[in-house]
Amino acid sequence: MTRARTTVVDNIGSLITNDPALGRGPLGILENASLVLGDTSVLHVGPAGAVADDRIDADGAAVLPGFVDSHTHLVFAGDRSEEFTSRMAGQPYDGGGIRVTTDATRSAATEELDRLVRLRLAEAHRAGTTTIEIKSGYGLNVDDEARALQIAEAHTSETTFLGAHLLPREFEGRADDYIDLVCGEMLAAAAPHAKWIDAFCEVGAFDVDQCRTVLHAGRDAGLGLRLHGNQLGTSGGVELAVECGCASVDHCTHLTDGDIEALAGSDTVATFLPAADFSTRQPYVDARRVIDAGVTVAIASNCNPGSSYTTSISFCIAIAVREMGMTIDEAVQAVTVGGAAALRRNDVGRLTPGSLGHAVILDAPSHHHLAYRPGVPLVRQTIGPLGG
Ligand SMILES: [Zn+2]
Repeated sequence: MTRARTTVVDNIGSLITNDPALGRGPLGILENASLVLGDTSVLHVGPAGAVADDRIDADGAAVLPGFVDSHTHLVFAGDRSEEFTSRMAGQPYDGGGIRVTTDATRSAATEELDRLVRLRLAEAHRAGTTTIEIKSGYGLNVDDEARALQIAEAHTSETTFLGAHLLPREFEGRADDYIDLVCGEMLAAAAPHAKWIDAFCEVGAFDVDQCRTVLHAGRDAGLGLRLHGNQLGTSGGVELAVECGCASVDHCTHLTDGDIEALAGSDTVATFLPAADFSTRQPYVDARRVIDAGVTVAIASNCNPGSSYTTSISFCIAIAVREMGMTIDEAVQAVTVGGAAALRRNDVGRLTPGSLGHAVILDAPSHHHLAYRPGVPLVRQTIGPLGG
């Protein structure tokens, strides 16, 4: 058997390992460093000058773990730029546009949906994302939810069944019947293609009891649990997520003191989606209050056509630092180890021996430039495939 080729990324100005035992501060930063990669994983981190079969010269640039985007809705067809335009002109956001995307997605051919997902994934990868979660949720019937997950699982192991995204038109006034379908035939069709189950716990979507029913059914089917909660108000979603032991509760835009206390005493990650708050003109989360209480936090793109049509994690970092009270170091942690924690992974989001060799080389000497130079495409090279 031949040995896999090794590659050294050398002359790294600033290497973020995310292991405080390996370097300075909570990010475990090594200066003037090298990173040696095997076929799939990190072999070694240390001073510049390490030797391997192949060599990439970082030329003094910063290198950090590939971004872990733990919340996206990439499987969709159609465009909602008009809805965004009217929202910017004063229309409030209520989540109702999900039905517009559902119509477009149901009527799209499978090949077309797959082509669109590939384009979005390529865009995310160019911008530094190497691990991505993809949800269903625009099919909202048995066949189209299963189809979305089949498309997603070809690209990532982090697939999430979100049949309880919104009540489809044909179930108007019969929400409990729809929840029965989600927990029955739809879950049975989706579960073989999903790792996680999720629900949208919000006024206008599903209430706490309906979401609890969905999460319990998912758990019984062997799926991990996640929840959309507290986006538009204090929906009870955070308490439910903690009660059910969800890996993550996502949005967390509106949090009571009790919500923060519950999160702090749990291993549920609070995932912030700042690009959604940007695009819906919601207030930004006071992340300082959450972090200071000891809650583990993540930041994700929430890429979707209605409330957050971006794959740019750098953009999310810039908002978190400018508007949410996070330091740049905290924001970078939130999109790497934080995202990994939200997916209950310890093999991504860090550059330590044995972790996956997924890294980003910036066109900048330090990660601070991710917030300091907002809107600039600072990713020079993404190392490692995009996937689970
Ligand atoms: Zn979402």
